[in-house]
Amino acid sequence: MNPQNASRRQFLILTGTATIALLAALRFVQEASAEALQNLPLDNAQAKALAYTEDASSSKHPGYKAGSTCTNCQFFTAATGACALFKGYRVSPNGWCSAWAKKPG
Ligand code: SF4
Repeated sequence: MNPQNASRRQFLILTGTATIALLAALRFVQEASAEALQNLPLDNAQAKALAYTEDASSSKHPGYKAGSTCTNCQFFTAATGACALFKGYRVSPNGWCSAWAKKPG
């Protein structure tokens, strides 16, 4: 076998292994971050003030518009379920509150 081909093969194997290890590490960090957050309690004072619900379609709030959920709110981080307005908590992707603002894009 040509020594150049062996070197190229080793390079590809090493970069492939490094990529897999990096992706595994990123996934671990994301899962660890998600586990650190607690579900937002419905009796949380701020959640009550903003009429938060875990099921957007059940909202009776006058500001609720069909189709708006935490998933398409600019304050939501899909990777962790975090909401910028409720530090330390995870909200339901299907949830909604009166602070909902359309995610750009
Ligand atoms: S601000 Fe957005 S992401 Fe946070 S609870 Fe309200 S609707 Fe959901």
